[in-house]
Amino acid sequence: MNVAFIGLGVMGYPMAGHLQRQGHRVRVYNRTPAKALQWSAEYAGDCADTPRQAAQGAELVMCCVGNDDDLRQVLLGEQGAFSGMSPGSVLVDHTTASADVARELAIQAAERELGFIDAPVSGGQAGAINGQLTIMVGGEALWFARAEPVMACYARRVQHMGPVGSGQLTKMVNQICIGGLLQGLAEALHFAQCAGLDGEAAMAVISQGAAQSWQLENRHKTMLEGRFDFGFAVDWMRKDLAIVLDEARRNGAQLPVTALVDQFYADVQRLGGGRWDTSSLIARLRAPLVAENEIHGTQQA
Ligand code: NAP
Repeated sequence: MNVAFIGLGVMGYPMAGHLQRQGHRVRVYNRTPAKALQWSAEYAGDCADTPRQAAQGAELVMCCVGNDDDLRQVLLGEQGAFSGMSPGSVLVDHTTASADVARELAIQAAERELGFIDAPVSGGQAGAINGQLTIMVGGEALWFARAEPVMACYARRVQHMGPVGSGQLTKMVNQICIGGLLQGLAEALHFAQCAGLDGEAAMAVISQGAAQSWQLENRHKTMLEGRFDFGFAVDWMRKDLAIVLDEARRNGAQLPVTALVDQFYADVQRLGGGRWDTSSLIARLRAPLVAENEIHGTQQA
């Protein structure tokens, strides 16, 4: 198929690469042109100067930018993707954004006889590189059916959840799980270390029992080492949790732990960890100890 991809960030760059490698004709757009040129040199695909130009002639237009406002910027207006798309073509939005903006954009798309599905992803940078993302989708079944085989190029699971906005609501469920889970894991590892246990050995045994999780398997080592220079950034997580808490205020859901973890992430940002992986919640628990040790060390010296 003729496919456009808008937004070649950590996620979009490899996702667009999978499409080109699996035989689709891909034309990309990125706000910073250097990344688009690099992509087109690496994958032998086309690049465009505007989202509109990228979208012209495409049956599917995939998009993966930062937040609600970024989406409006690349989709609407004279140079936006919508203005270049032909009736019957479908916009597939992989950005983690609000359910409201998905509904708003779906209405604008329908006015132009375009399809729109919200299709946020989970699985992180590694999932994008390995083509193993999980994709949760909201929108009309007709548009979903058209986009599903193409999304399968970079996914291990693609699930239609219901009307437009349902994909974003499902991604919110995912982020609620991850926030509480990571704080629990951070506290467990912190406790193990304070208790003088071998953290590695503790994780090796409990990972075989009921506490097992993806985060435990994939993050406990780096959490013990205090390494966070990879993965899903705290700044992005705070953006996602703001969307979650806003939605919960409207639908009446009680999210006390999520609200608390959001504040803990604000602490991590104050520690200078805005770009650290979300597993850095443990750094906040260690921070007072480190400060005390440093003071103690200075006094001894
Ligand atoms: P990223 O590396 O920061 O890339 C963001 C992309 O969006 C870049 O291509 C950027 O262009 C473009 N962009 C941002 N604002 C724009 C604007 N106003 N106009 C035009 N282009 C704009 O982010 P990412 O990690 O790929 O994440 C993208 C989305 O996926 C986010 O919604 C994030 O929450 C979600 N997500 C990320 C992960 C992860 O592990 N990273 C996992 C799941 C979901 P420039 O190159 O010019 O800056």
